[in-house]
Amino acid sequence: MALLEVRDLSIEFETRKGNLKALERLSFTLNEGETLGIVGESGCGKSITSLALMGLLAPNARVSAGALRFEGKDLLAMNEEARSEIRGAEMSMIFQDPMTSLNPSFTVGFQLEEMLKAHPREEADRSPAGRRKRLVELMEQVGIPDPAQRLTCYPHELSGGMSQRVMIAMAVASRPKLLIADEPTTALDVTIQAQILELLRDLQRRYKMALILITHDLGVVSETAARTMVMYAGQAVEEGPTREVIASPRHPYTAGLLQCLPALHAKEAPKTRLPSIAGMVPDLLARPSGCQFHPRCSRAQEPCWQALPDWRVEGSRGERCHFPLTQAGGGQR
Ligand code: SF4
Repeated sequence: MALLEVRDLSIEFETRKGNLKALERLSFTLNEGETLGIVGESGCGKSITSLALMGLLAPNARVSAGALRFEGKDLLAMNEEARSEIRGAEMSMIFQDPMTSLNPSFTVGFQLEEMLKAHPREEADRSPAGRRKRLVELMEQVGIPDPAQRLTCYPHELSGGMSQRVMIAMAVASRPKLLIADEPTTALDVTIQAQILELLRDLQRRYKMALILITHDLGVVSETAARTMVMYAGQAVEEGPTREVIASPRHPYTAGLLQCLPALHAKEAPKTRLPSIAGMVPDLLARPSGCQFHPRCSRAQEPCWQALPDWRVEGSRGERCHFPLTQAGGGQR
C-alpha cells in the first residue's frame, strides 16, 4: 500500500469573478521513504496540492472531485479533529519564507517546545526536563551551533538560513512519515540553499520519511528527488524518474523549463542571456481550450487547441501531450 495516494483530485475556488479551477484531476502516489519533486511556475497548482494534503485550504476553496488517502485512510472524509491529529504528527510541512512562518513574539525554544507538547513522539517529550534535552538534540540535528543559547533567541535574531533550520527542526520533531517542503530554499542565498537541501536529504535518510519537494526550479529536484512531476495550469503534464525527465523530457513545457536553467552543475555564470518560455501562464478563470500549454507551445497543431491530451503512461514515464518529444535532450521528433 502506498503511503500517500492522490486520485483525480480537483480543487475549485469561489471568487468574485467566478469559479476558478485551480487543480484538475491530479493523480500521483508516494511510497514510504520516497522523494517526489513537484515542479512548475507560480500558479501551476503545486502549493494548492500541498495545502490540500495538509487540510489547510482557504475557506473559499473546495475539493470538487477526487480522493486523498494517507496510509489507506480517507483524508477527505475525516473531521477537522482527526485531520489535525495527522497534521504535525504524521505529516508536516516547511513553508517558503521562514521569517514569516515563525511567530516573532516567542523564542524559538518556546515554539519548538509547543510542537513537542502537541505531538510527543518519545517518552522524554512528556516532561519539561526531557523536552529540554530533545530541543537541544533537534537543534544539533539541523546543524545549529550553540543550540542551548539559540533556543533563547527570538526569530529576528536569527539569519534566514538559521530560521529555516529551526522550521525544519519543528517539522521533523514528531518524526512525520511525510514531510512536504514548499519552496524551502527560495528565500535563501545559493550557498545556504545547497546546505538546506543537503540537510533535508540527511534527515530524510535518518527518519526514513517520504518527502514532497515543491519548487519552480528543476535544478533543485535534480539532486534530491527520485521522481519528478511537472505541473502546468493545475494539471500534471509529465512525470517520471528525475534523471530520465531531465535527460529526455517528453512534454514541451518540461523541455522549455530545462532550457531556462543554467547548465546543471555549471561552475561559472552563463555568458549569454538565458532563454525564457514565451507568453504567460493562462488565466485560470478563462482557460484556453484543449491543451493548456498550446498558446505558448511552438509545436502546437490543430488537435492541440481542439482537445485536452489524455494522460499517457509508458513504463515509468507519464505525459499529457498530443505530440510528445521523443529524442534524448527533448529534440524534435
Ligand atoms: Fe504542445 Fe500540443 Fe503537446 Fe500541448 S499537446 S504541449 S500544444 S504539442
